Amino acid sequence: MADTKYIFVTGGVVSSLGKGIIAASLGKLLQAQGYKVTIQKFDPYINIDPGTLNPYEHGECYVTIDGHEADLDLGHYERFLNDPTTRANNITTGRIYQSVISKERRGDYLGKTVQVVPHITDEIKKNVKLLGSKHKYDFVITEIGGTVGDIESLPFIESMRQLKWELGKNCLCVHLTYVPYIAAAKEYKTKPTQYSVKQLQELGIQSDILVLRTEHLLKSDLLRKVALFCNVDADAVIQSVDVPTIYEVPLVLQKQKMDEIVLKKVGLEVGKTPEMKAWNEFLKRKAAATEVVKIGLVGKYVELQDAYKSIDESLLQAAIYNDRKLELHLFHSEKLDDNNAAETLKDMDGLLIAPGFGQRGIEGKFAAIRYARENNIPCLGICLGMQCMVIEFARNVLGMENANSTEMEPNTPYKVIDLMEEQKSITDMGGSMRLGAYDCILKKGSKAHEAYGKTNIQERHRHRFEFNGQYKDQYEAAGMKCTGENPDTNLVEVVEIPDLKWFVGVQFHPEYNSTVVNPNPLFVSFVKAAIENK
Ligand code: GLN
Repeated sequence: MADTKYIFVTGGVVSSLGKGIIAASLGKLLQAQGYKVTIQKFDPYINIDPGTLNPYEHGECYVTIDGHEADLDLGHYERFLNDPTTRANNITTGRIYQSVISKERRGDYLGKTVQVVPHITDEIKKNVKLLGSKHKYDFVITEIGGTVGDIESLPFIESMRQLKWELGKNCLCVHLTYVPYIAAAKEYKTKPTQYSVKQLQELGIQSDILVLRTEHLLKSDLLRKVALFCNVDADAVIQSVDVPTIYEVPLVLQKQKMDEIVLKKVGLEVGKTPEMKAWNEFLKRKAAATEVVKIGLVGKYVELQDAYKSIDESLLQAAIYNDRKLELHLFHSEKLDDNNAAETLKDMDGLLIAPGFGQRGIEGKFAAIRYARENNIPCLGICLGMQCMVIEFARNVLGMENANSTEMEPNTPYKVIDLMEEQKSITDMGGSMRLGAYDCILKKGSKAHEAYGKTNIQERHRHRFEFNGQYKDQYEAAGMKCTGENPDTNLVEVVEIPDLKWFVGVQFHPEYNSTVVNPNPLFVSFVKAAIENK
């Protein structure tokens, strides 16, 4: 395709309408039409990336293959498009300013006054176009975080105005709004949408397509009214009604021909409606799966809906590919101990021990792991979860009293988990962990090898501490085997207890690499073991 097409997705009225899902769903439809599509997120906050943000602030931190700590919407983009993102797919105000300020310090601006327009906006535009020019995507969809009218997002909106002007037909704005239902009046209200579209107009941008989020189906005369008041073609007012699963959203949009509307507006030919075979197959299996598998997720952020987003989605996908309905039970690790673990967890078919940082809730993870190990319950430990499996084994099997990770207790007598050598001199916290995809060689015959069906794998990482290789022989002799290692550094990436049905801890994060059409094999294998354990 000659010119890359740029689509901006903005949000109005309220936040949390699901711009990420709308962007991912539209991306999926255009991809199904045969185009190379990528999705990018602009976050208006000053942090360089969300890596230093607490999950209470920002939900899960996602990690790209090239080791960028990113917004969790990138997880949706990957799960929908089945195409890896990179650091170019997530830009923050902080990164834009950092880049402009270092150019200023280098003297690149040749004595000029550095200003929001044009210097900041030029930097933003460069980051939008980069994916089109360098990475040769046909469509670059850019989601702008926040809600139109926020002070923080103004430079992004201004850049979008300029790009619309420069690119003409090759640039579109999809604006997502909310249509509330006033129960007392028994009416849907479009005024917030009209105001929000006007707000964009005041900033110089005419929306090309409107997506109205609604709890119940809206009548066509209401859609026509919105079109009339908002300068938008009648067929370009789409509604996105609540559906049982986010994975149905592409079909909801396809039914209203959103992809065709986009293609026509950017001057591309409209062919046959794509079948989306694999996607529909997944949804069909999801609908058919009625028998339940119960998985317990043990972590300290279970009360936050988005803290373990990628794990939740990976488990859901793995359950569906095992033809089961996922029943996810959340267990707060601070509330678990050796006295209540058996009673609390007794109904679970499998347990997943979550990643994390710091001391809080750690003892509860040990209790859950001990229960799983002593009662032969399938158990998957991820990152800190794996480290906890190692510590629990040291304390309760190897007799190493008070064994710990030096992250929790720097003076522990048994440093079974210790800071990686290359981490010891690091003082900056941002972007300095062992991040991104690394090779791992799996031992033949191990559970992990069985799951992946190959010896060489690559998975993403986000940690500073590691299994202390000094203790490897002791662990192996007592029954916990190191079944996956990095070929360059010999860092232990996988531990297992082969005598148990399925007990695997991984230093990496398989959840960052599980998509609708390509579920992560380790999750599929874990859920299968949980089903067999029933
Ligand atoms: N806190 C641990 C480390 O830094 C584990 C990190 C994680 O679970 N992502 O090594």
